[in-house]
Amino acid sequence: MRLIRFGERGAEKPGLLLSDGTRVDASGSGLDYNEEFFAGKGLESLRHWMEKNGPKAPRVDSAVRWGAPICRPSKIVCIGLNYSDHAKESGLETPKEPVIFFKATSSLAGPNDAVMIPRGSTKTDWEVEIAVVIGKEARYVSKERANEHIAGYVLHNDYSERAFQLERGGQWVKGKSADTFAPLGPFVATRDEIPEPGRLEMWLKVNGTMRQKGNTANMIFDIPFLVSYTSQFMTLLPGDVISTGTPAGVGLGMKPPVFLKAGDVVELGIEKLGESSQKIIAFQM
Ligand code: ZN
Repeated sequence: MRLIRFGERGAEKPGLLLSDGTRVDASGSGLDYNEEFFAGKGLESLRHWMEKNGPKAPRVDSAVRWGAPICRPSKIVCIGLNYSDHAKESGLETPKEPVIFFKATSSLAGPNDAVMIPRGSTKTDWEVEIAVVIGKEARYVSKERANEHIAGYVLHNDYSERAFQLERGGQWVKGKSADTFAPLGPFVATRDEIPEPGRLEMWLKVNGTMRQKGNTANMIFDIPFLVSYTSQFMTLLPGDVISTGTPAGVGLGMKPPVFLKAGDVVELGIEKLGESSQKIIAFQM
């Protein structure tokens, strides 16, 4: 299944995306894609509901906004420098163990929402990534059993303010957490839809020019390892997100570096996980 949410920000409803692109309103199921949904039998209930009610459930008009396809999670965990070409362009060493950092969950946004340059920013940058959605609480999980804890996968643009991240001291979280900095979606593909998450093409364009072109096969640490590894340090709750790092081609890595400005348009996609597009806008309160 491909889970979507739609409607005005803060009032999104759950839905499903069919293979022909139709969006089905699943709010009649009484479910929403939150911790309780993923922890319990939410996916199973949704599947049953869909079999019974899908054909006559309301369709979502194409003009209606796409929301983030999950409710705000307890954590957005990110993995840094997980592609060696990106570590190199960042002038940083390839890590011996995964680099973990957080993004504020308030940065979550719909896949095609405008992205707002934060106040005082001069170095807003892009990062196409595949993110994992946790389906079952994970504590000290082995790599071998990690897949059992994954509900699905989703496209993510890990927007980053490089000066806040790298020049202002302390943790990377400063440069990763502005409002709108985590456009997620268009949909969460359940695990059964993506048998090989470690073999997906990914790309990102800025104003029509290709800037990132990679493949999840080039990750230093693969997805099962990352779920297992992260669970050694914290409990991953159902619905939590782990964003698994970006390949080369970010603005910071260009010579000279290029950063985003109001009016720019960023488009990105991952094979089998759809595409998203964000217009960059200037800061406003
Ligand atoms: Zn990232």
